[in-house]
Order: sequence, then structure tokens, then C-alpha cells
Amino acid sequence: MATLLEGKKLARQINAETADYASQHNLTLAVIQVGDDPASGAYREAKKRQAHRLGIVFEEYLFDTFVPAPEIESLIRRLNSREEITGIFIEQPLPPGYDTLALPELVDPIKDIDGVTTANGANLYFNRPGLFPATAEALLEILDFYGIDPKGKEAVVVGRSNIVGKPAALLLLHRHATVTICHSRTRSLEEVVKRGDIVIAAVGKAELLKGDFFKEGAVVLDAGFNMSDGKTAGDVDFEGVFERVSAITPVPGGVGSVTTASLFRNLVKAHQLQYGT
Ligand code: NDP
Repeated sequence: MATLLEGKKLARQINAETADYASQHNLTLAVIQVGDDPASGAYREAKKRQAHRLGIVFEEYLFDTFVPAPEIESLIRRLNSREEITGIFIEQPLPPGYDTLALPELVDPIKDIDGVTTANGANLYFNRPGLFPATAEALLEILDFYGIDPKGKEAVVVGRSNIVGKPAALLLLHRHATVTICHSRTRSLEEVVKRGDIVIAAVGKAELLKGDFFKEGAVVLDAGFNMSDGKTAGDVDFEGVFERVSAITPVPGGVGSVTTASLFRNLVKAHQLQYGT
């Protein structure tokens, strides 16, 4: 029977540290949303509630899709130059017609709490201090919290997106895991996943990874968040895997719970980078 790697306790711990820091320093998060994507709106509202709980000032900038890109660009530049703005987050996806790479790239890297600028990508690549995508950070936080050291372990990451799979793989590599990255063109996914002492699922396909994919005793971190038959489901067939592996994150209540906490922890890191505290 597997240990349940629950995220809530860890999230509470991270949030308490963030609230403590916020009580001693003025932290302000600016969130930009272009268009009316309902999921982005819900994530923005969740960040607003969390900011208020943690004692962080929240500024939101909402744009209709007909607003020309230069207007958003000049807002980003203004936010970059305002000293009291600690972090800037641009909700994704941006609607069609906006350059999804160029706009986030304008964010000052020390305010880029989503870790999406090439400067922070390079920091991650070279294992230098920087701000990295919150979900990838959350995965490593969970391993640390439960005393699972990636050093020397075979880690298999399924998914190679810029916000989850790839940064998670690099963070694991820097922690001395032997890392394999799988994607939609990987042959014999099951055979590759079976090598993993640690398996990270970041695919976006409900219950793609079945019980017999996993080595006995593997540690499984499921970042997937999917709707299946009206219910939330991870990328891993939780029921089918539970008896076989040594530890697994539930969905919901696992990686997702820690991601928001990690995002606000990035705001603290951003402040520390800006003020050398
Ligand atoms: P993307 O769609 O950007 O990336 C999915 C990755 O999975 C791609 O690299 C893709 O390969 C790969 N993939 C797709 N199908 C297969 C397959 N059959 N076999 C192997 N690999 C496959 O998704 P994200 O990284 O943004 O998100 C992944 C999951 O994590 C989603 O469920 C999302 O909802 C969730 N998520 C959760 C967060 C959290 O806080 N818990 C935050 C962000 C995301 P290829 O590159 O070849 O196309």
C-alpha cells in the first residue's frame, strides 16, 4: 500500500512562511489577463483570494481582446519600473493574435514569478539562482517534504512542456537524478516508465499511465489535472497504481495544492532577488 503524498500540509507550511515574510516586507503581485477565458479567470480569482490571505497586495489588469498589443507592452514596462511591484504574472493562454512568447518576454526576469522568460530559462539550464515554473518547483518541494532524495535515482518525466515537464526534468537533473523525458513520440512508453524509481506525470490525458506501467515501489508524482466523466482525474490511474507503488500524489490534493503555494513562494524569492534580503 502506497504512502499518500498529500500536498495540503506542505502548502500550509509554505504559505505560513510566505505570510510571515509578507508581514515584514511589502509584496505586490500584478496579474494581467487578456480576453475572457473562464479557466484563466478562475485561476486569477484564486490568486487574488490567496494574495489577500497571505497579506499580499494584488493588482489586476484585465484587457479585452481588441486591445492592441503595444498597450499591454507598455503596461508591462510600467510595472517593471514600479519599485513596489514585486511580481508580474500574465495569464495563459493569450488569445489568438497576441505573441505568446514575445509578451511574457518583456517581464523583468527578477519579477517573472512564473519563470517564463528566457533569462530564467537560462538560469534553470545553468543551475543558477532564478525564478522557475511553480509546478516544477512544487514537484521537488513534495519530494523534499517527504524525504525522497532524487540523487542517483532513475527519474522518468512524462511530458516536455516548458512549464512542467522540461523544468521538472532539469530540476531533477540538478538534484543528481538520472533523468529520462518522454513525450508523444516516445516508443514503448510503458517500458520507459517502468525504469523510473521516480515518475513525474505531466501529460494532460486522464489516467494514461496504468498500474502495470510502474516498477514495484516507484514514487509517483501526478501533475495532471483533467476532467473525466465529470470528475477530476490525474494522468495516472490512481486506483490501479496504488497497491503497486510506494508513494503517490492524489488528484486533487497533491501537486496542484502545492503549485499555488510555490507561485507565492516565487514572489518572496523575487523580492529577495530585488532587495538582496
Ligand atoms: P502540455 O499539453 O503543454 O504538454 C503535454 C506533454 O505531454 C507534451 O510534452 C506531450 O508531448 C506529452 N504527451 C501528450 N500525449 C502523450 C502520450 N500519449 N504519451 C507521452 N507523452 C504525451 O501540458 P502541460 O505540461 O501544460 O500540462 C500537463 C498536465 O499538467 C495537464 O493535465 C495540466 O492540466 C496539468 N497542470 C497542472 C498544474 C498543477 O498545478 N498541478 C499546472 C500546469 C499544468 P509532445 O511534446 O510530443 O506534444
